[in-house]
Amino acid sequence: MAKRTCSFCGRSEREVSLLITGLTGFICSDCAEAAYQIVQENSQARKTSSPFSEPIGELPKPKDIKEFLDQYVIGQDDAKRYLAVSVYNHYKRLEQKTDDDGVEIEKSNIVMVGSTGTGKTLLARTIARLLKVPFTIVDATVFTEAGYVGEDVESILSRLLQVADGDVKAAERGIVFIDEIDKIARKADNPSITRDVSGEGVQQGLLKLLEGSVVNVPPKGGRKHPDQEYVQVDTHNILFICGGAFDGIEKKIAQRLNTHVVGFNSVQHTRNIDKQNLMKYILPQDLKSFGLIPEIIGRLPVLTYLNPLDRDALRRILLEPKNSLVKQQVKLFAMDGITLEFTPETLDYIVDKAVEYKLGARGLRSIMETLMVQLQYDAPSEKKHGDKLVVTRDYAQRQLENSFLQEAIEG
Ligand code: ADP
Repeated sequence: MAKRTCSFCGRSEREVSLLITGLTGFICSDCAEAAYQIVQENSQARKTSSPFSEPIGELPKPKDIKEFLDQYVIGQDDAKRYLAVSVYNHYKRLEQKTDDDGVEIEKSNIVMVGSTGTGKTLLARTIARLLKVPFTIVDATVFTEAGYVGEDVESILSRLLQVADGDVKAAERGIVFIDEIDKIARKADNPSITRDVSGEGVQQGLLKLLEGSVVNVPPKGGRKHPDQEYVQVDTHNILFICGGAFDGIEKKIAQRLNTHVVGFNSVQHTRNIDKQNLMKYILPQDLKSFGLIPEIIGRLPVLTYLNPLDRDALRRILLEPKNSLVKQQVKLFAMDGITLEFTPETLDYIVDKAVEYKLGARGLRSIMETLMVQLQYDAPSEKKHGDKLVVTRDYAQRQLENSFLQEAIEG
């Protein structure tokens, strides 16, 4: 009988760990593995489908979207309505047939303005759970003008492409949330002849994506370099949602309002202005005074705001969202068979502290973690199934004041 050798590498049966017999030849395990890898790489490169390539099917209506957001995000009704409508219209635009009547629905990118910790990112993350198109969140602070240390704005599209599992068609229908858009504002007091690396240059780069163009994207992200493979991504149908705190923009709004209320009914006008929440009077021109270039503002036609969170909102945030901080703590203890409760005064105290720290709802979490860490440390070994723990205001205060005294009253 002829010697049995691998038809690919020519090695004999004795030289390989396994030789598989075919109709007219043989393949060894090493060559089979190499062949499998080649097939895999090839199919990855030609990928045209992903979980997002299915038709969208039934669309969630704006009211459905808002109701969904209500489960996780407290208040911010205006921003929710704007977001819901924009996402709904985005879906519609994707489904439109342009040849019927020549009417083409244009996309309406959004910009959300609101102080830190008021729920901008939370809104974006929550909406992502509902979406049927690829979605990614990027931080504008990492971008710098091409040629400088940092990331190219095109890396936004690399991210979207990765979320879409390499499916370019799906990525071209996606939604991008750009956080901290205010950080790329032009520095008004930067008259230098040197370039504004992290400001206007980045805005120019971003503009290209926002207005819709075909962009060469390195599929794996990173800086562009000459001998890299690119994928072409068309951004015409990608919806951009931007968010930023725009610290100090209230001053610009106030200035504008003041100059506008000169006139004979100015007194009446000023009286009606809600001075606690100037953000709700925001107009595109305020973004311009803040340092966004007019072209960018023109490409973000939907402008909405988030309210500062008052005590009532902060208290509701502690309790009401589907995965509120209190619910999370109760669950953690319930897993050890312990019933955990917070007295109303404790919740008020946490809210007081959050207001004091001026971090919006962001402060709630760190306060909660600080005051609960000792209990979380002790309870699993000191308490038994069926025990009840009540966190009192005194205990909370002591914990926050960095005392290690443990005085949770047991019920
Ligand atoms: P930012 O506006 O700075 O993007 P985030 O959305 O990141 O703020 O909010 C920080 C945290 O505060 C969130 O993870 C969330 O727990 C909480 N939070 C903020 N605003 C709200 C809100 N309106 N409803 C519920 N939770 C909120």
